[in-house]
Amino acid sequence: MTRVLNDPTDFARQHLRGFCLLHANLVMPVPGGVVRIDRPDSQSVAVVTGGGCGHYPAFCGWVGQGMADGAVAGDVFASPSAEAIVSVCRASNNGRGILLTYGNYAGDVLNFTEAQHRLEGDGFEVRNLPISDDVSSAPPEERDRRRGTAGDLIVIKVAGAATAAGCDLDTVYRLARRANDRTFSFGIAFTGCTLPGAMRPLFELSPGIMGVGMGVHGEPGVSEEPVAPAAEIARRLVTRLLEERPPDSGRRVVALLNGLGSTKYEELFLLWGDVHDRLVEAGLEIVAPAVGELITSLDMAGLSLTLSWLDPELETLWLAPATSPAFSRGAIATLGARREAVAGSSSGSVRKSASADAVAQSTIIAAVARRVADALRAAQDDLGALDAVAGDGDHGLGMVRGAEAATAAAQDAATSGAGPSTTLRAAADGWAARSGGTSGALWGAALRGAADTLPDDRPAGAEDVVRAVTAARDALVRTGGAEVGDKTMLDALAPFVDTLTDRIGEGLAEAWRAAASASTEAARETAKLQARRGRARPLGARSLGHPDPGATSLALVLTTIGIVALTSGVGDDAR
Ligand code: ADP
Ligand code: MG
Repeated sequence: MTRVLNDPTDFARQHLRGFCLLHANLVMPVPGGVVRIDRPDSQSVAVVTGGGCGHYPAFCGWVGQGMADGAVAGDVFASPSAEAIVSVCRASNNGRGILLTYGNYAGDVLNFTEAQHRLEGDGFEVRNLPISDDVSSAPPEERDRRRGTAGDLIVIKVAGAATAAGCDLDTVYRLARRANDRTFSFGIAFTGCTLPGAMRPLFELSPGIMGVGMGVHGEPGVSEEPVAPAAEIARRLVTRLLEERPPDSGRRVVALLNGLGSTKYEELFLLWGDVHDRLVEAGLEIVAPAVGELITSLDMAGLSLTLSWLDPELETLWLAPATSPAFSRGAIATLGARREAVAGSSSGSVRKSASADAVAQSTIIAAVARRVADALRAAQDDLGALDAVAGDGDHGLGMVRGAEAATAAAQDAATSGAGPSTTLRAAADGWAARSGGTSGALWGAALRGAADTLPDDRPAGAEDVVRAVTAARDALVRTGGAEVGDKTMLDALAPFVDTLTDRIGEGLAEAWRAAASASTEAARETAKLQARRGRARPLGARSLGHPDPGATSLALVLTTIGIVALTSGVGDDAR
């Protein structure tokens, strides 16, 4: 049951308020739901989803880059109104049409269809795709009557990635539809769920009984049976889904193991082990699976398994980068190789001069810049305080402004098909233009120095990276005139370059990690120095005992790059 609440009738609105406050860097509230905070600069198709609340992360948790542009939020287990849908669509519109995609429930279909008509009346181009992956809810020949469950995530991810790749509305619709056609889910419930404020569950299962094929709102299932051991549950789920394997399927499949609300992650992991073995036994290759709460049903105990049969296009889109409150993907190193398959069917905007791998690396550069900007934002106040000791206190703000502008510029360059050099150069220029302050100009110069040594037609390898950071250091010295020991960012950069150069034989990822910790240590050590450059020089003595802000932020940036690069596999790739 729901124990945390104020007014049960206001539960949906109040939870959404907290959600938006928490994820203010990704989403913003609009009448009727939430939309992405960052609007793509170029026109694109808007993907809008939605449904009742009580199913988090469906649907608001999936609003973000490479995912949905907006989510309409209804009351608990209740479809949002057509008016709310229209409102969210207007706020999400990016000028190239709107795809409505949501779980196939009567109320939702009614309201989304009504909204579609109203939007079309106002001149919008709209496609409508109810998601229908739940195999227990209707036989295969009545596919259109099947409910939507965790398959929602797959369809929305595919649609969002297609949009981000520049596809037009018909292409986004076609790809999302294909994802839906090839996605199948089967679930089991152990307990009912209780609406906020209610004292009794919506439906009940006797203890020790599981509802096989039961729907997420307690819709009747296939059968009620004694709870079986995990290995047997895994066998049931996999066997049932393999019955629906499409005739033209390959061996590559996405698997989602979803917890419905009160089933613990440990239980899901245990079950995943068994599911994994059954899938492998069936000769399948599991691609980027997910296990956890993907679509819930308030506090219901239970789970579902989803299989989505990939083809090369769908695999590209499933693996493409994404950032949203509930689903993010950093495994983007392979994007470029597959991106062409998608670009060929859509925008065709990939420049000929940059190879697909090179463009993939540009996408990584942009994604890393995003994470750097986030890390700087989290450290903004601390950096400001350090700068206030002997400077003017603006260092945190300047770094955030610079990194945000660099991110936007790099994203632009990457989406238009630029290679790594051009992309980093755009980031450098963006940083210098927006950051302000001495450090902004110096960061611009250093990044430009690095960019100029990188290739554009192929991805940079480990040696290119060493050359680039060396060039960055040299550009910093040339522009700022500082020497090591002057208490500037150079004190953190110089040891980084030395360590990276020394240890590159261990592979880029490992060397970067070692170099970043040398840089962090050196930044800390600047506390012992007296500022001899920049704004802090006149009050240099005051800076004794406090590390240099510019050195501190530089070490943070280098550390963040290392962490992001490691999780995205960049380090392995560039070895
Ligand atoms: P401002 O000093 O214009 O307010 P910031 O506060 O953003 O700029 O940045 C201050 C940081 O800039 C210092 O902590 C130092 O690391 C770096 N810095 C200042 N002058 C130089 C220089 N000549 N060479 C290298 N780094 C410098
Ligand atoms: Mg300052």
